[in-house]
Amino acid sequence: MTTRTNRQWLLAKRPVGMVGEADFELREGPAPVPGAGDILVRNLYLSFDPAMRGWMEDRPSYLPPVGLGDVMRCGAVGQVVESDDPAFPVGGFVQGLFGWQEYAVSGSGRATLIPDGTPLTWPLGVLGITGLTAYFGMLDLGRPMPGETVVVSGAAGATGSVAAQIARVRGSRVIGIAGGAEKCAWLLDAARLDAAIDYKSEDVAARLSALCPAGIDVFFDNVGGEILDAVLARIALRARIVLCGGISGYNEKEPPPGPRNLMNLVRQRGRIEGLIVLDYAKRFGEGTTQLAEWVGEGQIAHREDIQHGIENAPRTFLRLFSGENLGKQLLRVGEPSGARSSQEGTR
Ligand code: NAP
Repeated sequence: MTTRTNRQWLLAKRPVGMVGEADFELREGPAPVPGAGDILVRNLYLSFDPAMRGWMEDRPSYLPPVGLGDVMRCGAVGQVVESDDPAFPVGGFVQGLFGWQEYAVSGSGRATLIPDGTPLTWPLGVLGITGLTAYFGMLDLGRPMPGETVVVSGAAGATGSVAAQIARVRGSRVIGIAGGAEKCAWLLDAARLDAAIDYKSEDVAARLSALCPAGIDVFFDNVGGEILDAVLARIALRARIVLCGGISGYNEKEPPPGPRNLMNLVRQRGRIEGLIVLDYAKRFGEGTTQLAEWVGEGQIAHREDIQHGIENAPRTFLRLFSGENLGKQLLRVGEPSGARSSQEGTR
């Protein structure tokens, strides 16, 4: 029997305010032994999502909190190295919530096979949770129409970039808000949006007023706070606001005060609606098929930011909150074996 060493990152402390590397602890030990019907997975790519900051809090949510001393939860793609389930042969590629570690045991019911021909990183990004969030959030809740004005915050990120381009595909005029000149240039050149606002160097409210003289019909919000407030002040009649996330507040000790311009929803008969992508699980097949088609046709550009080495997991997580990530944040922690190369995603 092969003895494998497993490095794992555990949740050591519940963060107070900004999450830091000291909130995690690295442990090294033998890889877990799969039981009857289980598979042993060698992780290849870990996915980093802002929601993981919420899972570190001891409060009820759509998933239970990560326990102190438990392996930090995350989506991952890996390769089956031992299997007691013929449906998951050794050498096959799978995805699941395998956590910040090199090896994970999974009940085969908690893993999903990745079809041949799908680049291994895509099920964690454009064809995964972030792409699907953009798809269902924009189309089911935002419902952009041709000629309407759509604004997306966090627009250069994994979720925002796909949401913005879906609205463009639907014939809307799309304005992306992101941090920094490089991200804004990508929004114009690669994502082909109509305009980009750099919230770090520009007056967001003034730019929105100039760009949206007839108001904003759809706002897909990943950020919350002042950006949400600036948009609320400028919504058009019957505007739809998709509340996807509020990353500007995720590391605040106290929830930030509510938006000042909420009453504009009354005046403009607007609607604001929260979104949890897991509610759409039964329709994920529809979403991935359509997204794969748009990516294949060159209608949707996407990019991945791939860091390396399990030892860098906490540091990689923090990139989401400094905005260093250029696209979907991933960490490569293992090499695939066999004929299929990693096929890291295209830009
Ligand atoms: P991402 O956008 O690829 O990365 C996070 C980005 O957030 C950073 O690159 C940074 O971009 C921006 N950011 C960080 N701190 C900020 C701040 N204080 N103010 C403004 N922007 C800030 O990550 P993602 O995975 O796609 O997630 C984006 C949002 O979608 C998050 O709010 C997440 O919680 C939400 N989400 C929701 C669901 C759901 O089911 N509701 C599912 C998936 C994701 P800049 O450089 O532009 O600042």
